[in-house]
Order: sequence, then C-alpha cells, then structure tokens
Amino acid sequence: MRRIVFATKNKNKLEEIKAKLPEYEIVSMEEAGFNMEIEENGKTFEENAIIKAEAISKSLNEIVMADDSGLEIDYLDKAPGVLSARFLGHDTSYDVKNKKILEMLDGVEEEKRSARFVCAIAIAIPNMDTKVVRGTIEGVIGQEQKGENGFGYDPIFVVKELNKTTAELSMEEKNKISHRGRALELALDVLKEMNI
Ligand code: IMP
Repeated sequence: MRRIVFATKNKNKLEEIKAKLPEYEIVSMEEAGFNMEIEENGKTFEENAIIKAEAISKSLNEIVMADDSGLEIDYLDKAPGVLSARFLGHDTSYDVKNKKILEMLDGVEEEKRSARFVCAIAIAIPNMDTKVVRGTIEGVIGQEQKGENGFGYDPIFVVKELNKTTAELSMEEKNKISHRGRALELALDVLKEMNI
C-alpha cells in the first residue's frame, strides 16, 4: 500500500480522508514525525495548500497532501475566504462569527446571499511538480443559525437543493457533497493518473 502523509492535526478530516482513499495508507503529519507550524500566508486556498504540502514533503521526503479551505460570501467580496479561521480572531467562537456574518447580511435579499465552501488540496511528490485541485459546494447564507452537526460556518450555510444547512446534515450526507469530499475525489484522480 502506497503511503501518503496528510497535513492535518484534525482527526475528523483524517478519518474522512481514510474513508475516501482506502487504497492508500494515510498517516497524519504527526505520525510521520513532522510537528512544526507552517505559516499559511498565501493569498489563495491553492497557494496555502501548496506551501504546506511542499514544506512537509521536502522535510520528510515523502508524498504529502495538504488542504486549505474556507467560506466565500459573494456579497462580502468573497470574505472571509482564506481568512475564514482567523475571521474576528482565531479564538472567537463560531457562534459569534456566524452572528456577525448574519448581521453583515441583514436585509440582503436571497439572490445576493450566494456563498460557497472551497477546499484546495495540494499533492507534493518528491522530485515532481506539485499538483493542486479545488472542490466547491455552492449555497446561500441563511437568515439564522440552524443545525447542530458539523463545525465552523455550517449552521449558516444553506444547501439550496436540500433546503438545509450543512449543520443539519449527518457527517455521511455532508461528506458526499462537500467541498472537501469533491476535492478528495479529484485528488484521487490525480494520484491514479500519475500511477501512484
Ligand atoms: P482549514 O482548512 O481546516 O484551516 O479550515 C479553514 C476554516 O474554514 C475553518 O476553520 C472554518 O472556519 C472554515 N471551514 C472550512 N470547511 C468548513 C466546513 O465544512 N464547514 C464549516 N466551516 C468550514
């Protein structure tokens, strides 16, 4: 089984990745012996994913996948975007962050509340060019927080076709349609094309 290091400390993400890529031995960067912090100072999701994947791949001399994700709200010129985790400060609760976004969109009609979750995944392979893919899920920002599942901005992100927020979906339902799920499928296509 080919081994791939996935650059995350998040156990839920690691489980999701293992489920989507069963033909690979997926290990976390900590299991692979990489514990340094990497500054995500890119301007795009792709840049951040590439920075992380390449830094860890160079250090370990292994195949490394890294992701970067966030929420783009069209009415706010695609904010919070790459700053999604840092919006209003890293340690601010998502209840507060979500309330602030609802306030910023107060009175804005449905057609102008379009938004998407974006996930870029970079695959860095020793002595080869880094590949990067992007998965998205389109939605609208709701009028109030709804649902108890998921994390982050899920309670305000409504999937139009389902008329539910991603916080109202089970993990399995969300993983099937999510930005991360889609990006992982595209990453798997890249690995297959490269015979990895
Ligand atoms: P990261 O890619 O894990 O650093 O995630 C960046 C930030 O984007 C998270 O902290 C959340 O604020 C937001 N985000 C990314 N994916 C999701 C999601 O599936 N649901 C809710 N928020 C998300």
